Amino acid sequence: MDLRNLELNETSGLVCAHHHLYSALARGMPAPPRTPQTFREILELVWWRLDRALDLEMLEWSAKLGALEAIESGTTAIFDHHESPNAIEGSLDVIANACAEVGIRVNCSYGVTDRHGPDGAKRGLEENLRFLAQGGQGMVGIHAAFTCEQDTLLAAVELAQQHGVGVHIHVAEGVDDIDAVNRLRGLSQESWLLVHGVHLPDNHGLTGHLVHNPRSNMNNSVGYAAPQRLGLPVALGTDGIGAAMLDEFRVAYARARECDITVTPELVWEWLEGGYQLVPEAINDRVVWSDEPIDPWRLAYHTSIRPLSVQIAGEVVVSDGAATRVDAEEIRAKAAEQAKRLFSALETIY
Ligand SMILES: [Zn+2]
Repeated sequence: MDLRNLELNETSGLVCAHHHLYSALARGMPAPPRTPQTFREILELVWWRLDRALDLEMLEWSAKLGALEAIESGTTAIFDHHESPNAIEGSLDVIANACAEVGIRVNCSYGVTDRHGPDGAKRGLEENLRFLAQGGQGMVGIHAAFTCEQDTLLAAVELAQQHGVGVHIHVAEGVDDIDAVNRLRGLSQESWLLVHGVHLPDNHGLTGHLVHNPRSNMNNSVGYAAPQRLGLPVALGTDGIGAAMLDEFRVAYARARECDITVTPELVWEWLEGGYQLVPEAINDRVVWSDEPIDPWRLAYHTSIRPLSVQIAGEVVVSDGAATRVDAEEIRAKAAEQAKRLFSALETIY
């Protein structure tokens, strides 16, 4: 964003280039049946149990809560990557409608996978197709190469081409997906979102935007992506841990500095701004912050700045720090009820 055209306390709307709105209810969930020892076990014991427990009602309030918290953090556009294997059909509409109600921009995709057999993969592809054919704002989602058969991967790529959209996919997040580079080389396009890239080699040969999710990567102990080494345009995502992008910017900066003392906040600010290549409209969204001036060097160390007002496509969606279109208290209360339902459903899934 060109800060010169803005007031000292303003930015454009921030972009979260990788989110999982279905995970908004997950915080505080019961501990897994045993302590995960690897990233693969974190997936198996936490996230792949959670996504199986979801129904469309839980998803609706999870998405509303996630969207609400995003605008409250100055984020005006989200790329969502969704999976709910026991509630696939219509799930992308539930997310898109929840975001429309709150007033935030969203790009939806369903993460296709063979984890639930060929029928699960087929239904995931169909949900992407249904949503895009209806004119939904979206991409084709793929969970990750390592959970997809080659036929599934190719079908998803073809579907994206048919609809003139990109593919949104986790790539080499952990060592389990180390082969992604070989599976995706020759398939990836500039329109793709390559999420994580932690274990991509420098000479990967892939094209697309690299979405860096530093806090998630640290939480999962998968290693540091050092995204600047990959030679791709970089954007920042949260991987479902909220959508507070200034927060993610600060974490990205701290993590980058941990391994390279010469990294500047300007470099990491460029990653944050990478989102505008994906959602140019967000440049014209406006966030008024509680402190000034907006300057990457100040923000990298500033932990108590918050949005006072947020405008998306000319409409005020946050005023005096509060959402204008929805009742925030109601969303938090309903989300808490659905979180209880989700947590008791989880007790029965192993
Ligand atoms: Zn993710």
